[in-house]
Amino acid sequence: MKVVALAGGTGSAKLLRGLQAEIDEFTVVSNVGDNFWNHGLYVCPDIDIAVYTLAGTSDVAKGWGLRGDTFNVLAQLGKLGEETWFNLGDMDLATQIFRTEQLSKGRRLGDITTMLCDRLRVRQKVLPCTDDRLETYIDTHLGPMHLQDFWVKNHGEPEVTGVEYRGSETARAEYRVITAIEEADRVIFCPANPVTSILPILAVDGVKRALSSTKARRVAVSPIIGDAPVSGPAGKMLKAIGAGTDSSSVAGLYRGLVDVMVLDAADETRRRDIERHGIRAVSSSILMNDFESERRVARQALVA
Ligand code: GDP
Repeated sequence: MKVVALAGGTGSAKLLRGLQAEIDEFTVVSNVGDNFWNHGLYVCPDIDIAVYTLAGTSDVAKGWGLRGDTFNVLAQLGKLGEETWFNLGDMDLATQIFRTEQLSKGRRLGDITTMLCDRLRVRQKVLPCTDDRLETYIDTHLGPMHLQDFWVKNHGEPEVTGVEYRGSETARAEYRVITAIEEADRVIFCPANPVTSILPILAVDGVKRALSSTKARRVAVSPIIGDAPVSGPAGKMLKAIGAGTDSSSVAGLYRGLVDVMVLDAADETRRRDIERHGIRAVSSSILMNDFESERRVARQALVA
């Protein structure tokens, strides 16, 4: 079975770990809207969390970065008077140095990510949704700011009035992404912030078309249990784009692109609303708080 997983960061990583325990090979199409330049380096947090997770080296407890990493370089940058609000560990910086050097040689982000996977012995394919610049900007009462400025530097505190995917008018899909979706048997929308992780992927030219025409079964695992996301700022952002903060509202955003949504058993009452979007609902336990639950949710996503 050919499986493609559309993925963001922390929530998605849990499902990817579960998937890897169930099947050997699959392709991850990663969000790039959170990529940004920091200390002269091109940082791609969602790509890296997928790669580190699949390499078995991620810091599972933190949900980002590498297990056992230290922060000496960042501390020294602080002494030099530089900003240190984005936590990049010493080992993590090696990835950013590697990527930035390859970019300076003219290589594309997708090819560099493949090199990274090969060198870290990751058997699965991780592809950025695009090689082009596509950045998620959050419109706030302080003005528009990059997602990292909003979420990490400003702790997600500013009032959100809207979201923009800068560059989406011209971003073209990474050259393997469309074929991967078209030839897949199953496309899984990982549980992820719909606004900052999945919609930027869908904003890339050709991705929605490929999702509409693929013969694959398209399954979304809801990132929401009850009336609130399991974690992170998804609620605030869903409200800002005029959507509700429940599973059926997320189903509405994926309408026409998803066949089945896996929702939590606690949300049985939303079934009818989800099915109104033409999406079949399957209820299960979708909270992933250990390896066993990650495997269980991954199995659901593979059979739903
Ligand atoms: P971010 O870039 O770190 O925000 O990461 P993601 O876009 O992957 O996603 C965070 C989303 O995953 C949030 O909306 C969470 O509600 C969701 N999430 C986190 N943990 C879980 C979980 O255990 N189960 C489910 N179903 N969703 C989760």
